[in-house]
Amino acid sequence: MAFQMSTLSARIRLITSGGPLSRSRGDFSNDSVGFSVKLRNIFSATQPKRQVHSLFRTGIAERVDNFSTATVLKSFKGQNYGRACREKSGTVYRIAIGAFGVTTAVACLHASAQVAMAEAHLNLDSVKSNWNKVKETLLSMGLEDRRKHYRSSFLALKDIPVWNQERGAAAVKPHFPRNEALDNKISLFSGDITKLEVDGIVNAANKTLLGGGGVDGAIHRTAGPLLKCECAELDGCDTGQAKITGGYGLPAKYVIHTVGPIVMGAVGEEERSRLRECYWNSLDCATSEGLRSVAFPCISTGVYGYPPEQAVDVALKTVREYLNDHDHSLDRVIFCVFLPSDYELYKNNLPYYFPGDVPVKSKL
Ligand code: ADP
Repeated sequence: MAFQMSTLSARIRLITSGGPLSRSRGDFSNDSVGFSVKLRNIFSATQPKRQVHSLFRTGIAERVDNFSTATVLKSFKGQNYGRACREKSGTVYRIAIGAFGVTTAVACLHASAQVAMAEAHLNLDSVKSNWNKVKETLLSMGLEDRRKHYRSSFLALKDIPVWNQERGAAAVKPHFPRNEALDNKISLFSGDITKLEVDGIVNAANKTLLGGGGVDGAIHRTAGPLLKCECAELDGCDTGQAKITGGYGLPAKYVIHTVGPIVMGAVGEEERSRLRECYWNSLDCATSEGLRSVAFPCISTGVYGYPPEQAVDVALKTVREYLNDHDHSLDRVIFCVFLPSDYELYKNNLPYYFPGDVPVKSKL
């Protein structure tokens, strides 16, 4: 298209810069004929027939078609040379402007038709789809269009309540000072993480990143098979590390995969540090990709055996410390619990890490 546009403008420059004016009237007519043919060739070469026809139907291209050889020749017949030149110049400018407008309109139609075709052919259910293309297309869509491709029902971020209504309920001696900047950044949500329409959800994955049970299985099921295709190219993940992929059929744009520690027996410093790394590195991964809202499940507290009543302190402390350092980088962190017992644990412990402005009493 760029080449053809420059050909067209070079041609216009040639005609209007006096080249043809030094020629005989016969030459001039021939040049005009050539220009007209060229103009029409450009349109038929660049646009698929159907698009050209639809343009003709709308009447946009009719003006180009009317600028035919006959029209140009007619305008010069029986007229003196100077008038012909002036008229030719004016006509050519009008044609140039018209052609530019039509070409631009056609280019826009062509581009939007391509996007529409790409969207219509998004197949999230087949491993034969190119995951990279699907991911790119989904991420480039507006919210309303992306919602058409969710493979589950969803809960919009605005409908996930901020936790600070309950902040003052428990009067405790907090482990951290009050920070008003964090008042609207924390949510405690009880339910399925795969429904959350947030920028990123964290997956409690295993080291292969190829899917498993628990929350990992639920995330892969909802995202569809392309998530595994992308994960397969990540070369696994070490305990405590985090890697990011697209969300595919999930309402979340991205999935951050982290591998929690496996606890057998008592929790030691090693397990505590690895669990802390899971939360910290997941948040780092999110902010470095520009994500503003992130939801965490209770990492390692299922099959991996980390006692939930100990894991809750690691989760809350790490998120609080991260937000102390990066409070402008994130709008919302959601603790997504699945079991009623975890909901109680988080509800009771949140005031120690994100205190409100009520009088406090000691936890100890
Ligand atoms: P891990 O192997 O790290 O222990 P699990 O998936 O076994 O991971 O459990 C981690 C936590 O995720 C548990 O608290 C479990 O109740 C919770 N969980 C399981 N399914 C979901 C889900 N769909 N949404 C949110 N949390 C879930």
